[in-house]
This record gives sequence, structure tokens and C-alpha cells, in this order.
Amino acid sequence: MQKLEGIAVSPGIAIGEALVIDREGGHIPRRFLPPSAADAELLRLDGAIQGLAGEISRDRDAVAKELGARYGAIFDAHLQMLRDPILRGELEQLLRERHFSAEYAVNRTLRRYAKVFQSLEGSFVAERATDINDIEKRLIRQLSGQPRQDFSKLTSPAIVLAHDLTPSETACMNKRLVLGFATDAGGPGSHTAIVAQGMEIPAVLGVGNLLNEAASGDLVIIDGDHGNVIVRPDEATLAEYRRRVEHQESHAVELESLRDLPAQTGDGERITLLANIEFPQEVAHCLERGSEGIGLYRTEFLYLGTTVEPDEDVHYRAYAEVVQAMQGRPVVIRTLDLGADKLTHLQALEPERNPFLGLRSIRLSLRHLPTFRTQLRAILRASVLGDVRIMFPLISTVMELRKAKMILADVCEDLEEHGIPCRRDVPVGIMVEVPAAAVMIDLLAPAVDFLSIGTNDLIQYTLAVDRTNKDVVNLYNSCDPAVLRLIAQTCDGARRCHKPVSLCGQMSSNPIYLMLLLGLGLRQLSVSPSAVPEIKQACRAVTIPQCEAVAARVLTMDNARDIKQFLREELRKVAADLVH
Ligand code: PEP
Ligand code: MG
Repeated sequence: MQKLEGIAVSPGIAIGEALVIDREGGHIPRRFLPPSAADAELLRLDGAIQGLAGEISRDRDAVAKELGARYGAIFDAHLQMLRDPILRGELEQLLRERHFSAEYAVNRTLRRYAKVFQSLEGSFVAERATDINDIEKRLIRQLSGQPRQDFSKLTSPAIVLAHDLTPSETACMNKRLVLGFATDAGGPGSHTAIVAQGMEIPAVLGVGNLLNEAASGDLVIIDGDHGNVIVRPDEATLAEYRRRVEHQESHAVELESLRDLPAQTGDGERITLLANIEFPQEVAHCLERGSEGIGLYRTEFLYLGTTVEPDEDVHYRAYAEVVQAMQGRPVVIRTLDLGADKLTHLQALEPERNPFLGLRSIRLSLRHLPTFRTQLRAILRASVLGDVRIMFPLISTVMELRKAKMILADVCEDLEEHGIPCRRDVPVGIMVEVPAAAVMIDLLAPAVDFLSIGTNDLIQYTLAVDRTNKDVVNLYNSCDPAVLRLIAQTCDGARRCHKPVSLCGQMSSNPIYLMLLLGLGLRQLSVSPSAVPEIKQACRAVTIPQCEAVAARVLTMDNARDIKQFLREELRKVAADLVH
């Protein structure tokens, strides 16, 4: 038995036979052709480009039908790369002047492009190399006439293991036959991870040495909750995981029955459970899981996989879709949080030295006012369709908030002057995700309608730990007492100003933290859509006095390890099945 660790990107457990589909860097021999063959070779290359463009368009349409246009848009970026005249020019030059075969020219050129992306700092950019590798592999398959790896042709259920999987390969998976998958490469922010979550296939990425340890036919367990891949499990491990699968299945049925019940504590305190989304298509899933609204809409994902800046109508259509689908439930639209690890193609060309401390988020919006105003116009136009709220991310000074609000008021006036309907009283909030905002909460809270604590960033900025760096992942800890003090301070500040406060970092999706968060005074949480049922179950299992006692005790403790252990024990006492 081999237990390998990777990054958990799509939850759930899958057990089955491995299908190893790929080894990295299939070697393309360096082949030369006589100069007279160049024209014919170029024709062959153009045919392959055309064939692949057709294939990608079909993938795009199929994925858009299954998951919505936003996911399909990933393939538009592939098409743009494939049809890039500069790329075509470079390939022609290699065919005509160096007399390379088309396969070798494609291999050499696209590997060079991919390397440029890989060398850029920031996982989001580096992951774009996967897209280029995807095009390279598929173009070479077209040229050599090999059938593409088509998971929809699998005839029996399997666990797919690969060095890397591209978004298009992932999107082609048949959910009933691909039980789960794992790859050596990739990170949690990759398109592959996003598509896997959308399709609800358990997945682990970034395993590292998977293909050295597993072969087709091996029995494999994918633990998408904890990021483990177990190859050739022993009897005891297999039995343990089978038990967990059974438990998950019966738990899912149990949770189903909670859908229409309120998230209410045992002593009757009503908790509002909202959901975090990146794409409008996720809204249906949020409603199915019983979410009461959208607490965080990460609008920067409108820029994902496209080289074209979204215009006002693209923004508007996305917001209108979400707001209308939520039928009067609250929708908190966060303004663009671009920069750091979420870069547009233009930002990717000029990497910053310290992107998380650089021109990111609200700073970027305030620097590029036309883009910011475009987005605000679209949000304000959508505000008349339902209960829209606007949230500014990464606020670190009072001045920043004032500037953002001034621009919002100006955009609103502009719309009114032109007779375009919008809501002047749309609630405005900020994310508290920089320690400075928590420290200044007494001045920030009075100036907003609501607050939302973004622990994903608050942890990294409080502890000086890059949230995307796997080498310091052990220092990135939700239970750190310094982080908890800042959360407590924010809740107190909000309470004093009578302003609602929510928590939308990943921490809110883990039942372990629920007693602590309610004990600190939170009554609203925004969680991953799939976590709504479990968090609701946890709410219904506790009482506020219990939670307050837990929070009071935690605030006296001096280290993250003891705090986590204590929280697990306390949750176990009231809802043992929620302690994973
Ligand atoms: C956060 O920082 O906690 C947050 C919710 O925002 P994001 O994860 O998008 O940075
Ligand atoms: Mg954040």
C-alpha cells in the first residue's frame, strides 16, 4: 500500500481500478524533411489546426450545455491561442527554414511558450501553461492521426491517474465512469480543479510522484476531502474507506432532509447561511443545497480564460442571471479582486515582485477607474432586479473606502441622469481581510452597511504566510490565536456599531469552527455551496451558550494546535458525525 499526499480540490471519496492514461512529455523525435516537402507539410499543419479548432468548438458547446457558458468560455481562450497568427508564422518558419516536421515544430514551439508561463511567478499564471500543453498534445494527436483520449469512451468505471489533465480532458469525463481522478501536476486554482468541482468528481491534484507508484489495474482510493491517494490499499484501509463511503451516502440522504429546515440553533437562534460562488451557473446548486442567498460572488472569474476584457453588458448579464435566479434572496456582489494569484492576461505579462502585497483588488480598481466604473454601472443596473449588495474587497484604509464609495455615488448619479434605473440605496459593505481593517474597525464599520470577514486573506496577512505557497502550508492556520483575536475584534466592532457581520473565508465551510464562530457573535456565514447542509446540521446541533463558552475558552489559549484539538472535541460532543 502507498499513501500519497496531494491537494484536495474536489470533495468526496472514490474507490476503483486505476486507469493510467498519460506519462509526461511523450517524446517527439526531431525529424527533418526535404525542402520540397515544406508546402505539403504546411498544408498538413493547417489541416490539423482546423481539425483541432473544430474539436475544441465542439467541446466548448458540450461543456457550455452541461455547465453553462462561463465554463465553455475556457475553450474560447484555447481557440484564440490556436488561431494566433504569430504562432502560425513561427511554425511556418520552422517548416520552411529549418525543415522540421510539423509535429516537431509544434512540440518545440509550444513547449517554449509553456515554459515562459511556467517561469512567471504566481500559480494562476503558471497554470496557464497547462492550457498550452493541452493544445500541443491535441495538435500532435491531430497530426499523427491518433485518436484523442476520450473519457466518454470508457466502458467500465475507473479512477483516472495522469501526470496532468487539461480542462478539456476533464470536461470530457463521463461522471458515471470516471469515479475520481488524481494528477501529479496542478493546483487548486487551475481550470481543471474548477471543472472537477463543477462536475462533483472527487479529485486530488499536485500529488508529485503518482505515476511512479501506480499502474493501470491497481486498486486506488481518491480521498478528495483530505487530498490523499491510496494505491493498492490493504484490507483494513479499504474496509475503513468503504465504511466512510457508506457513511457519506447515508449522511447525504440525511442532510437532504434538512434542506427546507432553517439553520437554527437548538435554543432558537436563527443563523443565515449564504453561499460563495464564482460563476452564475452555480446558483441552481446553491438553491438545491438550501442556501438563503449569495454571500460572496467572486466576479473576477468573469476574466477567467479570456483575453477579452468583459464589457458592461457581459458584467450585467452575469449579475442579472444570478440576481434573478435568487428570486429576492440577498446577492452580495464583490467588486473585482484581480491581481495576486488571479491575473488577467495583461497582468500576466508584467508580473509583480510581491503580488499579494501589490496592485491587487480594490487598489487595482481604484487605479483603473474606467474598468471599475464599468463594473459598478453593471451592478447598479442589476440592483433593481432583486436584493443586490455591493462589497469592496481588500479595504485597508478609511481613505480607500471613501474613494470607492465616492466613485459608486458618482456612477449612480450618472445612471440616474441618463434615466437608467438603479437603486441609490444599494447596501455597501467591505471585506475585512487585512489586519489593518480589523484594527480600524471602529472607524470603518460606521461607514458601511455590512462587513464580511475574509479569513483566507486575513490569515495570510496576519501570519505573513503566502496562501499559495505549498512550502509554508503548515504555517497557514485558521486557529492561530492572532487571527482569532482579529476576528473577535471585528465582531465586537460590528456589534458596537449595530452592523451585520458575516464570514466568507473557507473557514466557515468547516463544521469544526462553527461553535467558535457563533460564540464570537457571528450570525451569518457564507460557505461553499456543497457545505451548506453540513453547516446547517452543525447549527442545529449546538446552543449559543455552548458556543459562547467554547469561544471564551479558545480566546485564553495560546496556540493553534491546542485550539484545533479543543474545537474538534467540542464538536464531537454535540455532532460526532461532523468531525471528519
Ligand atoms: C477571503 O480572502 O477569505 C475571501 C473570501 O476572498 P478570496 O478567497 O476570494 O480571496
Ligand atoms: Mg480575499
